[in-house]
Amino acid sequence: MTSIHLALEIIRLRPGIDDLSDIDCPDCHAPMIIHQPDESLPDRLIGICDSCTGWFLIEAAAGLIVRLPDDEALRDA
Ligand SMILES: [Zn+2]
Repeated sequence: MTSIHLALEIIRLRPGIDDLSDIDCPDCHAPMIIHQPDESLPDRLIGICDSCTGWFLIEAAAGLIVRLPDDEALRDA
């Protein structure tokens, strides 16, 4: 297995403003499509932006969003 290092940017959810079903893209502020891949982890969500194609891991319990690397970043790893 190859290890890679990624610089992850932490984005804070705005309490009382960011409804979990209606989170805007931190990059382009378009509404994101929110996915819940694991029903046993309702606070761990994936947000996908249709507009800029960004993917984000959302840790709702901690109030954090982390931008996931795009395919280009992973190809260059
Ligand atoms: Zn976006």
